[in-house]
Amino acid sequence: MTPSRMKVFTSTLCTTMHTPAYEFLSGAKTHYYESPDRRDVILKYLESQSDAFEITERTEDFGAGPIERVHKQDFIDYLKTAYEEWIEEGGHPNGVLPGTIPHYKIARHGKLKASNCLAKSGEYCFDLSAVITKDTFKAAWNAAQVTLTATKELVRAADEFEQSVEAGCATRENPPGLYALVRPPGHHAQSDICGGYCYLNNLAIAAQWLIDQPDLKSKADGGPKRIAILDIDFHHGNGTQEIFYTVANPLYTSLHSVDDYPYFTGSELEKGEGEGLGFNINIPLVQATTNDDYVEKLDKLIQDHVIPFKPDYILVSLGVDTYKDDPIAGFLVTSEGYPRIGNSIRKIGVPTLFVQEGGYCIEKLGLNVGGILLGFMGRTGTPQ
Ligand SMILES: [Zn+2]
Repeated sequence: MTPSRMKVFTSTLCTTMHTPAYEFLSGAKTHYYESPDRRDVILKYLESQSDAFEITERTEDFGAGPIERVHKQDFIDYLKTAYEEWIEEGGHPNGVLPGTIPHYKIARHGKLKASNCLAKSGEYCFDLSAVITKDTFKAAWNAAQVTLTATKELVRAADEFEQSVEAGCATRENPPGLYALVRPPGHHAQSDICGGYCYLNNLAIAAQWLIDQPDLKSKADGGPKRIAILDIDFHHGNGTQEIFYTVANPLYTSLHSVDDYPYFTGSELEKGEGEGLGFNINIPLVQATTNDDYVEKLDKLIQDHVIPFKPDYILVSLGVDTYKDDPIAGFLVTSEGYPRIGNSIRKIGVPTLFVQEGGYCIEKLGLNVGGILLGFMGRTGTPQ
């Protein structure tokens, strides 16, 4: 049995509260690309496809535990109090933005403990895009809770799917999928550094939560559930990579642009360390990658790495800044390409959670995100 509609988890408590007025790109002050408008256009498109999507604002509170499994306590405390301290110290009300970041060439005497908020803003942030406003921490916290709510539903849907397959009522070609429409996004957030519009790593928190559930056992080896992460955002997910770099579960895989943001990570030479060696797979793609090139590389990544890992769940960092007209990216994927990408992920045959990351071409954002999700559901044809 194939679920007729995909469940979409979202909440205005995460999607509308975080609204920095501006950022700096290539030296110019510009509007903040990672805006609440992104959520509005995606939601509007999904609502127009009401036969395909069931949207819910139901969010459970999982508390601090799952977040603390991924992020360091001093970093969480910083995010929570940064704006208040910033204002007390006379910072600009737009939000916390670093003035000095501890570049590795000046850190000759080890890490010095930052004493005020302006110094901490450099210690805990690696670029100028992750402005912390009055409600940023609440928004990021709620984005993690929405993602966890969707993850819990993934477990239920996967169990139901397994029973249906065993009963002969469903086939593995049509696995269940769910979607967490959240912002701020997460895949650039490391265990103790924000950056790249990201503060808490929603997908990493979800992956660790699945691994931590004592009653959930892997079909392959009876150990914890095996999670494969597929990061299809245009940019490398340096945060997710860093968080899981030394472990063998989850598997982290990423298709992203070579020589683009965040510039200093994403090489195919970064393969993991210790027990994690071989479980970090980076596939950098050239600028101007097209639909055919992209799908070919994605299919190869799936065949060579994702399927052999024998995952119980797939978690997708869903970015559509691979789109040809994205204002901050450089691939040539078109709206016709996204259903093909979704279809390639469907063919893995594993229950899948999509978590929203990047995508900044507002005019086509809903269509492109919807295209991936519809493609995953096996709905072919060009989305309207
Ligand atoms: Zn991106």
